[in-house]
Amino acid sequence: MSKLNPRQKEAVEYVGGPLLVLAGAGSGKTSVITRKIAYLIQKCGVEGRHIAAVTFTNKASREMKERVGQLVKGKEARGLTVSTFHNLGLNIIRREHRILGLKAAFSLFDDQDSKALLRDLMLHQNEDAEQVDTVRNQISNWKNDMLEPAQALAQAAGPDDILAARAYEAYEIHLRAYNAVDFDDLILIPVRLFQNHPEVLDRWQGRIRYLLVDEYQDTNLSQYRLVRQLVGHRGALTVVGDDDQSIYAWRGARPENLVQLNEDFPSLKVVKLEQNYRSTRLILKAANTLIANNPHVFDKTLWSDMGFGDPIRVIYNRNEETECERIATEILDRHLRKATPFKDFAILYRGNFQARLLEVKLQAYQVPYKLSGGTSFFSRAEIKDVMAYLKVLINPDDDNAFLRIINTPRREIGPNTLQKLGTYASERQVGLYAACDEMGLEQVLPAQAIERLRRFRDWMQRIYRQCQQADPVDAIREMVRDIDYEGWIRQNTASEAAADKRVQNVWFLLDSIRSTLDRLREDDPDAGIEETITRLILLDLLDRQEEEDDSDRVQLMTLHASKGLEFPHVFMMGMEEELLPHRNSIEMDTIEEERRLAYVGITRARETLTMTLARQRKQYGEMVDCLPSRFIDEVPQEDLVIEGLERNQDQNRARGKATLNSLKSLLDSF
Ligand code: ATP
Ligand code: MG
Repeated sequence: MSKLNPRQKEAVEYVGGPLLVLAGAGSGKTSVITRKIAYLIQKCGVEGRHIAAVTFTNKASREMKERVGQLVKGKEARGLTVSTFHNLGLNIIRREHRILGLKAAFSLFDDQDSKALLRDLMLHQNEDAEQVDTVRNQISNWKNDMLEPAQALAQAAGPDDILAARAYEAYEIHLRAYNAVDFDDLILIPVRLFQNHPEVLDRWQGRIRYLLVDEYQDTNLSQYRLVRQLVGHRGALTVVGDDDQSIYAWRGARPENLVQLNEDFPSLKVVKLEQNYRSTRLILKAANTLIANNPHVFDKTLWSDMGFGDPIRVIYNRNEETECERIATEILDRHLRKATPFKDFAILYRGNFQARLLEVKLQAYQVPYKLSGGTSFFSRAEIKDVMAYLKVLINPDDDNAFLRIINTPRREIGPNTLQKLGTYASERQVGLYAACDEMGLEQVLPAQAIERLRRFRDWMQRIYRQCQQADPVDAIREMVRDIDYEGWIRQNTASEAAADKRVQNVWFLLDSIRSTLDRLREDDPDAGIEETITRLILLDLLDRQEEEDDSDRVQLMTLHASKGLEFPHVFMMGMEEELLPHRNSIEMDTIEEERRLAYVGITRARETLTMTLARQRKQYGEMVDCLPSRFIDEVPQEDLVIEGLERNQDQNRARGKATLNSLKSLLDSF
């Protein structure tokens, strides 16, 4: 285990009040958190169940869990919370659902569910998909800023805002009617709960006696409130962050929270870390020089004694195809010549769409890879179907899920029937599923339709009873068998190979239900199917698929997803204007956030960094010329090795700049 440097040690051992560790990339911020958890348990006698450490992504929280797992084991770790903000919120809501007026088995709407609901609500106004997306984001922003629909309406500045605020109001009413919460609610609802019920807050403050937050620069207003509430006046808080790595402003993150902290906790102690233990000196210098182009609230210095290392390579390619091929062959070459394992490489990009061609080329060269993010496991149709069954099973009020499965596989229940059922249900203010049983239904629907609906309902109830009385996972397996879902997939999938894959996905989901239930029961022997399904919806299964799989593969992910991680060899692809920085940010003048994103990318690399770009790229079916990213110009040119550039103007430009920069740094050193 590495030895902490004096500053890190100071941060780990300071438990007398609130602490902020403000430091650049790779300086050991996350290490301070994991070591501090061990210190609190082993040296301060704080029980694991009184400690919570939170971060932002599943990937980061998993990584943190692993690192903590090496330091505290077995009984010591019992009850310890290491999770994402949203998972913590989910736990609070689950435990307090009664006070909140939610049934135990509330549904959790993912982004697609939320959009589907909004689309329904906005349908009669002929809104297009893009407008639904805009309204969805707007609602999310309002929620992160803790605005209620009425407040949003009062602040609305024009017709678009008014439309969005109205949709927000209807959306909230429907969510509650479905006994559902959305992603943003996972933070918002606990914050409101704590505001309105001091006695509940009291209980939670008694439970979480020490709170640690990683990647603090990315907290939004509601998350910040939650932190403040949980910490209360006790000030048992350690947060670590780096303002230069704030890359979620578009999702409401507020780096100002770093400053705010100082005002809210006058006794705040600040520790700065300056030694980077991750990257070679040239990589670190590139990162520092780049980020110096942004204005800074806090002064930070960062140095490394890892040696100079290899120069940073910039590889120009004719087009996007050759770019992807080049990355594949570079990796293969190093793998063969130096026996570097594939998992030591990461390929980072700005947008998920960039991965498609890359995947094709990696496959062609037989380079094994794994893709993080992108199309999530849960957005696949077969998984959405089975999950919808499970949602109805645990929460019969979830009309969205009901509509998805009532005719999948076919049950001869037509749109006419459903429409009448819908009208009936909304008049009576009950859910669709509950309406199936009502006597009054006889007035509006023919006997045969009612019979089909009730057959479905009886069957669902039988499965639910089985879940309660016997092994729930067996009951779910039986459910999937009963509807012959495999047969349905095979009938509705073009190729056999694709059908096999989809069937496997369903089996994988069932296995995951089993392992999630087992894990939950370790902490809470009474945990049942409700808890399991809610938990599953939150976790990105694909992420967990990777967790169980530590095979030797190149890692592909977006720059956003790479935050907090490190790799020996990093490729940053698509280093072009309009990709990085992204076109929208050029138009909206938010280049600084893109620069931070580039900074995050560069600082993931331990030994080598390679930037690639294409001179031409296909856009809307046409080849267009691309310009190198301004960020390439912003790193020290004398440290770059540029390849793939013929002796032409571009190169002269690069050389001219290199000479100029060398001169500049020479002058600077005097
Ligand atoms: P980021 O800003 O990217 O999240 P970070 O500040 O959280 O980075 P860590 O991930 O904690 O940094 O640490 C970076 C690397 O440095 C890790 O590999 C970690 O094991 C190593 N490291 C941290 N502290 C020390 C130390 N005192 N001695 C040796 N290695 C260390
Ligand atoms: Mg970190």
